[in-house]
Amino acid sequence: MSKKIKIGMISLTSCEGCRIAILKLGKRILDLSDKIDFSECSYLEDTPWPDNFDIVFIEGTPITKRELGVLKEARRRSKKLIALGNCAALGGVQEIKNYHNKEEVLRKTYKYYNSIENPEIKGIKEFVDVDFTIPGCPINSEEFLEVVTKILNGEDPKILQVPVCKDCPRAGSERCFLNQNKICFGPWTLGGCGSPCPGNALPCLACRGFREGVNVDMMEKTLEKFATKEEIENRLEVFGLLDEYKKLKNKK
Ligand code: SF4
Ligand code: SF4
Ligand code: SF4
Repeated sequence: MSKKIKIGMISLTSCEGCRIAILKLGKRILDLSDKIDFSECSYLEDTPWPDNFDIVFIEGTPITKRELGVLKEARRRSKKLIALGNCAALGGVQEIKNYHNKEEVLRKTYKYYNSIENPEIKGIKEFVDVDFTIPGCPINSEEFLEVVTKILNGEDPKILQVPVCKDCPRAGSERCFLNQNKICFGPWTLGGCGSPCPGNALPCLACRGFREGVNVDMMEKTLEKFATKEEIENRLEVFGLLDEYKKLKNKK
């Protein structure tokens, strides 16, 4: 039998919802156990880290020196490092703190805050090299399975650069949020989630991040017909996209 692929699932600060999404695969993930060895996954096994991993999946963002050390050590020990979900990819909802007075945020959150570290929140690519990103909040478990299966077959995983609107039940109708003068980032966001938010009466807030080559000027022009700059930026804060948006604007 060929050697099993050693996988690590490591959680930094997050809600851990992305690994719950993986557990939702149930038997289908266990069916891969003749090919995969979950060398580190506290939900399945509780063992010390091996010297080397083939793949490490990182969920969450490093918000303490200890977590930053864990992230760097995981990178050092692994051939491939994959960002799992919006927190790891883009900083997640916790990145909202960056856009406000972070000292005040700490004071309002904790009674005893003097010894609490309070760094800027950033996606993991700001600290280590990332080989691939599985987007979303939480990730799409089917997409995760597809990526893992491709890697096991020696293929390069890919996520199609299609917009969220492609699967949206409101597309092309008066039910489209944009046609109702409501902010929805669907056209500029990487699809593949199956559009659950517009499908459930909520606009897309771009948890999967922008599509490659997105035209942020066009986005701004479309949304500013009915929304203020502040309203647009407030929405972009939710999933850590405001800094990405500003970077894209400054590139021009
Ligand atoms: S991306 Fe969303 S679901 Fe995944 S860990 Fe972060 S907050 Fe939780
Ligand atoms: S995702 Fe948003 S913008 Fe796209 S079709 Fe659906 S409602 Fe309209
Ligand atoms: S519709 Fe938008 S916010 Fe909702 S899951 Fe998809 S990308 Fe995320």
